Amino acid sequence: MGPPPGRVGPASRDRTRRAPTGCHGPAGDRSLRGVDLQRWLAEAVSANERWLAEFGAFAVDASQRVDDDELAAPFAELVERLRDNYPFAVAGYVATMLVNPNNHALDGGPATAEMEREVVAQLADMFGLPDHLGHLTSSGTIANLEALYVARESHPGRGVAFSADAHYTHSRMCGLLGVDGFAVPTDPAGRMDVDALERLLLTDRVGTVVVTAGTTGLGAVDPVDEVVALRERYGIRVHVDAAYGGFFTLLADDSVDGVRSAPWRAVGACDSVVVDPHKHGLQPYGCGAVLFRDPSVGRFYGHDSPYTYFTSDELHLGEISLECSRAGAAAAALWLTFRLLPPARDGLGQVLAACREAALDWADLLDSSDRLRMYQRPELDIVSYFPLTAGSGMAAIDKTSARMLAD
Ligand SMILES: *Cc1c(COP(=O)(O)O)cnc(C)c1O
Repeated sequence: MGPPPGRVGPASRDRTRRAPTGCHGPAGDRSLRGVDLQRWLAEAVSANERWLAEFGAFAVDASQRVDDDELAAPFAELVERLRDNYPFAVAGYVATMLVNPNNHALDGGPATAEMEREVVAQLADMFGLPDHLGHLTSSGTIANLEALYVARESHPGRGVAFSADAHYTHSRMCGLLGVDGFAVPTDPAGRMDVDALERLLLTDRVGTVVVTAGTTGLGAVDPVDEVVALRERYGIRVHVDAAYGGFFTLLADDSVDGVRSAPWRAVGACDSVVVDPHKHGLQPYGCGAVLFRDPSVGRFYGHDSPYTYFTSDELHLGEISLECSRAGAAAAALWLTFRLLPPARDGLGQVLAACREAALDWADLLDSSDRLRMYQRPELDIVSYFPLTAGSGMAAIDKTSARMLAD
């Protein structure tokens, strides 16, 4: 794939292979990129060299010496094999990775642990959770696992309900945690059917309800507000899986092209929330996050690691996380991103607004198409449609869709 021609943006994508997208647009003409990687990666390496020089001269052990010529072939192979991927802004991640801090303990990554606290506080602010306990994770899967683990510990013997359109991770993690999982039917818009939920709650078998704010299939936002309203009556926890959709809270203003605000405004009243900065937060994988409204859930994290927690009496991130070692680079990359694009309407919100606008434009095009039919209007930025030429039945639609993707 050569450098793609023309402008940045969806309108220029008339290529047969995927063009690189993301923060720095097409390769080739550097003025088209949002970030000058040649400059910032070189700066990352120089900064790392200056820091290493402060330790004085030392010889690298023979076991670690690599011949540059020997590296050339496998490196070229790596670059070749990555051609079918999207490149993303990685300057912050790479600069930190050269130092390789571990955010398990303050001792392993003092600066990046502090950055993690700062970005987690920004995420908590975004959702309206002032007294939070939270941390980054390596993924949304692990973040949700932690939320369900805390749910099991705080509501022993009771199960977890999630909508039939929730991410499959929830039923799988219920199996892993040994708790009953209940799939609640969805309404025609793909949102949890609250009447069906209430019938299930009457059985007293459910301790926690997972609401999905942005399903992975349709981008449907469950009625978080209506589920929160049931909390006292049924003594349930409410967990929000906003792994995909979380940053859309920045657009929740009920404006014509905006996002419905009622479910998002209720997130701050829920017990826990998960968001994946590695989805709509522009981050390299893996960067998820879990936040709890009640900091005292920290008591459920048993830990015993005196050998890593020796320089500070402050709470170490590893004491409130199921994962042990984690890349400090992920925290640094998110911190750097939030410096440029804070999680606010006029920061990262602009990026989300562009995604939403593109989805709505596409929806308008589908409305006037005689070949494709929109399944439903996008609630966030996921557009679902099917080919009208397929004939009837799901199998025919699948087959035609697969052919469209391959063509
Ligand atoms: C992506 C996603 C997950 C899983 O997160 P990973 O970061 O892929 O592990 C869970 N829930 C929802 C709603 C998601 O969209």
